[in-house]
Amino acid sequence: MVVIDINKKYPEIWEFLAEVPDPEIPIINLVELGVVRNVEKEGDKVIVTITPTYTGCPAKKLFEDLIREKLIEKGFEDVQIDTTLSPAWNTDWLSEATKAKMMADGISPPTDDNKVVTCPNCKSTNTKIISKFGSTPCQSFHSCNDCLEPFNYFKCHR
Ligand SMILES: [Zn+2]
Repeated sequence: MVVIDINKKYPEIWEFLAEVPDPEIPIINLVELGVVRNVEKEGDKVIVTITPTYTGCPAKKLFEDLIREKLIEKGFEDVQIDTTLSPAWNTDWLSEATKAKMMADGISPPTDDNKVVTCPNCKSTNTKIISKFGSTPCQSFHSCNDCLEPFNYFKCHR
C-alpha cells in the first residue's frame, strides 16, 4: 500500500476541486478519485499536482482543463497544473465510500490485479468480460453470470 501524505493546508481549494466531477464517472469527483495529489500556493499562484489514473490516460488533459476552469471561476487567476506519475495511481486512493458510490451507479470499482470483478447489481464475482473497452477507454464491459446484468468495470492500468 502506497501511503501518500496529502497536504491539505488549503482546505478551501480542496473543496473547490471536490466540485469537479470525473468526466467519465460524474458521480465521483477528482478528489475522491485520488487524482488530485497536492495543492500549493506561491503568492497568488495556485499549483495543483495531479496523478492521472494511468500513464497516458486520455482524460489527463481534460482533468487539467476542468481544474483550471473551476479555480478561475472561483477567482484564482494564476493556476499551474503539474503532473506526477510517481507513485502511480492505485486503488488504495479510492475510499470505501467512493467505491460504494461507483457500485451504486452500476460501475464496478477497480481492483489492483483486475482479476476479481464484482457485479454492481448482485455483488457476485462470477462475472465475465465481454469487451476490453466499455463506454470509455478506462472501462471494460462485463456481464454477470448470476444475474445476467451487463456492467462497466473501471480498469486499473497497472
Ligand atoms: Zn450480478
